[in-house]
Amino acid sequence: MKLFRKVLIANRGEIAVRIIRACHELGIKTVAVYSDIDRDSMHVRLADEAVCIGPASAHQSYLNIPSIISAAEITDAEAIHPGYGFLSENSQFAEACNRSGIIFIGPRPENIRLGGDKARARQILKKKGVPVVPGSDGAVDDIEKARKVIKKIGYPVIIKASAGGGGRGMRIVEREEELERAFNTAQKEAHAAFGRDTVYIEKYITRMRHIEVQILADHKGHVVHLGERDCSIQRRHQKLIEEAPAPGLSPKLRKKLGEYAVKAAKALRYRNVGTIEFIVDSEDNIYFMEINTRVQVEHPVTEAITGIDIIKEQLKLASGNELQYRQSDIKFTGHAIECRINAEDPETFTPSPGLIDFLYLPGGPGIRVDTAAYCGWTVPSHYDSLIAKLIARAPTRQEAIIRLKRALDEFVIEGIKTTIPFHRRVVRSEKFLSGNFTTRFLEDF
Ligand code: ADP
Ligand code: ADP
Ligand code: MG
Repeated sequence: MKLFRKVLIANRGEIAVRIIRACHELGIKTVAVYSDIDRDSMHVRLADEAVCIGPASAHQSYLNIPSIISAAEITDAEAIHPGYGFLSENSQFAEACNRSGIIFIGPRPENIRLGGDKARARQILKKKGVPVVPGSDGAVDDIEKARKVIKKIGYPVIIKASAGGGGRGMRIVEREEELERAFNTAQKEAHAAFGRDTVYIEKYITRMRHIEVQILADHKGHVVHLGERDCSIQRRHQKLIEEAPAPGLSPKLRKKLGEYAVKAAKALRYRNVGTIEFIVDSEDNIYFMEINTRVQVEHPVTEAITGIDIIKEQLKLASGNELQYRQSDIKFTGHAIECRINAEDPETFTPSPGLIDFLYLPGGPGIRVDTAAYCGWTVPSHYDSLIAKLIARAPTRQEAIIRLKRALDEFVIEGIKTTIPFHRRVVRSEKFLSGNFTTRFLEDF
């Protein structure tokens, strides 16, 4: 099999460590990049080489395209893995890599651009026969057009930034009186946060589950899906707990989700790894929501139930290999649940950076912890607060929850506040145990 000799990882934290591990298992040499403040980070220690790319501010380091490309050139890296966040969904970065003769580990720039233009992605997939949430046909430029759309779909609606991501840039509107102000603010916020003021409108689905499908695609156009993940446990549109398979799905619904995801990937001539996110409403209607053109935070739950290493697949596919299996070769076993552990106050979710002065990671059967944390490490305040992911797997959902509970009780992080106490409460709640919940889980909690 063709594989890269050396890969640069344009990221930090647990995902950089995760990618370094996959590379090393494949015999690929690794180059870490780091900002001044990340000098003592675990990803720097684990990589074969490391290059400082700038000061702590992400704009001057992890988002600094010339600096990252230079680091790849001086270390003679053949490819760059962008991880998630940072430059992972930046088509200009993918193009800059290509121009420098460096392979960007991800889909084609065209796919990335579409993923970052959610209004257009809706429009295109609708035409291709994938159902989308009722709403605008593409972008909505002015309030008159907004009114026209809402006349058809009715309130409540959600105004979304076309370039939005990370749960930001969304505004729910309950009634006409709020519309004008909400629309103007949404446009302004979209511009400030994402550099483009393009917004679109969807019907706001009050009781929904967030269910997404993992896909893999090679350069020959073969596409397989690795089943679904339920990511309905969220706070402010940001995922906190994810699981695979989604609890309580009928085989028919599950099959339909997989088919729509593959259809979407094929229609877009998608390459490498990606996720198609869907809304499933209380009547089991499926609506396409968006496509994420990168590896996702919650990929380990899919790995746990399929036995497929998604990062290794990204590396193999980007080196020009074809998929080694067909859909019928993919087998699903057991159940897996992931808790995102953030350096945040477990009550208010305000960031809690600082020195970790004691750390004990849980282990034992069925437990996986992905983290870059260690005792003596200072969590910087400059980046995302995700510091660890705890993944429990077991033959059944019920056993996975018992195991998760056990592992959360073993987990010790001292010196900073973390969301571990929050997770301990959730996994004990009746609602969570029932598996019957929506994205409003926390409101009823
Ligand atoms: P996933 O879709 O993988 O579950 P998230 O939506 O939580 O992941 O986003 C993954 C990471 O990327 C988070 O650290 C988030 O802050 C960051 N992120 C996602 N989209 C953007 C964006 N448009 N701009 C900046 N950061 C983003
Ligand atoms: P992002 O790009 O930030 O990930 P998404 O479009 O994927 O944004 O939406 C993120 C979350 O916002 C969803 O998981 C869901 O909780 C909520 N959401 C998005 N669209 C709708 C909708 N039409 N109705 C209700 N909730 C929505
Ligand atoms: Mg999303």
